Amino acid sequence: MSKPIVAVIGRPNVGKSTLFNRLTKSKTSIVDDTPGVTRDRIYGEVEWLNHKFTIIDTGGIEPDSTDIILSQMRRQAEAAIESADVIIFLVDVKTGMTDADTHVANMLRKSHKPVVLVVNKVDDMVHQTMGMYEFYNLGLGEPIPISSGQALNLGDMLDEVVSYFPDEDAEAEEDDKIRVAIIGKPNVGKSSLVNKIVGEERVIVSNIAGTTRDSVDTEVTIEGQEYVLIDTAGIRRRSKIKENIEKYSIIRTIAAIDRADVVLILIDAEEGITEQDTKIAGMAHEAGKGCIIVVNKWDAIEKDDKTMNAYLKKITNTLAYMQYAPCMFISALTGQRIPKLFDTIYAIAQNQSQRISTGVLNDVLYEAMAMNQPPSDKGKPLKIFYMTQVSIKPPTFVIFVNDKELMHFSYQRYIENQMREAFGFKGTPLRFIVREKG
Ligand code: GDP
Ligand code: GDP
Repeated sequence: MSKPIVAVIGRPNVGKSTLFNRLTKSKTSIVDDTPGVTRDRIYGEVEWLNHKFTIIDTGGIEPDSTDIILSQMRRQAEAAIESADVIIFLVDVKTGMTDADTHVANMLRKSHKPVVLVVNKVDDMVHQTMGMYEFYNLGLGEPIPISSGQALNLGDMLDEVVSYFPDEDAEAEEDDKIRVAIIGKPNVGKSSLVNKIVGEERVIVSNIAGTTRDSVDTEVTIEGQEYVLIDTAGIRRRSKIKENIEKYSIIRTIAAIDRADVVLILIDAEEGITEQDTKIAGMAHEAGKGCIIVVNKWDAIEKDDKTMNAYLKKITNTLAYMQYAPCMFISALTGQRIPKLFDTIYAIAQNQSQRISTGVLNDVLYEAMAMNQPPSDKGKPLKIFYMTQVSIKPPTFVIFVNDKELMHFSYQRYIENQMREAFGFKGTPLRFIVREKG
């Protein structure tokens, strides 16, 4: 159910970004035009054979001395070890093995995470193979030669990567617990919110199971419903280099979103919504999760009767693609509206799993078409034959039409709105797949 995460780590200039672009380019994302998200993208989706996974390029930082290279690589590796399912450790045949490579290899060996050692820039598979042998010394098994630049041998590498993926059946977290990821930029109040929830008298905290020091799942029971809170605060606390750390904490955020049913996107009321918030929100939206926009620190600002509406307006304008997500104003400090927050989380978790029968769905579709006719292009009208729901989390629908080109975004949006009116679906994105039927 949740997609495996593959992290690419390695020194600057070994070709991480080139490899990343190579693997993600051909893939057309459903929401490639989500504003604020596609810029400096460092994560993307890859499909290989029957597998889909998320790849994260942890690079893109230009350290200026060997010391910094080492410490940054160590942090990258830590973050990858913590949150990734498989690590691609990329080295460069042109520069050969370096001390930094050896250091990181030692860390990776100790972690017992699956590591695929990949030697890049082997543009000439016949004459450059000699340079490969020294990488056996890293003690990470057989190095796989590739050329990201020339797109050589990437299939062999991907075969190796997917061979480490956990067995899907064994991994599926199938129970009635509602998994809630709490995401947001540093200092927005993620830890405070978890602490406040856990500290409430009517909350039963059944266990706190930490996989590492930094990532902690908290299980709580509220009104008979079990929730797993996935907190993403962490590593950055130990470091002074804030911007860089945020890059690494993206891995944690992606991993948390991936496991969640409902994502709380925290925004700091004192600062208002920022570009970083938009990026983080876009990640949850793209992943198709239930979303709540949670404006925290509501206690800390001066308010009158217009303040909340002004906030709502700003947020709705900024996150225009997330109209389905409710916006709540809370205080992790005082506990204001936290019980209501859980009512909303519960409702959204139900909506994520809502199934509509084909008959009822098409009643709504035909009525929508009768009220507002499908568009035509150069005299050719769009015909929609019927639609059917194919999956949940998020609810996904296939629409059968005469010609895909005729299905304009605005008409699809109209149908979506009619469906939301009829069935609710508050808090969850909906996905549509348009198919031609002869
Ligand atoms: P990053 O810092 O690890 O992300 O590295 P980049 O992807 O930015 O690549 C660094 C340089 O190596 C760029 O000039 C790339 O064009 C070059 N490069 C990447 N892959 C290959 C390759 O397979 N062969 C060759 N010859 N050059 C490559
Ligand atoms: P995190 O980095 O997102 O986990 O943020 P923290 O939970 O560590 O909170 C950062 C700072 O914001 C701390 O000083 C908190 O006391 C403060 N804070 C968190 N939530 C609230 C709130 O609802 N109201 C106020 N006034 N301060 C808050």
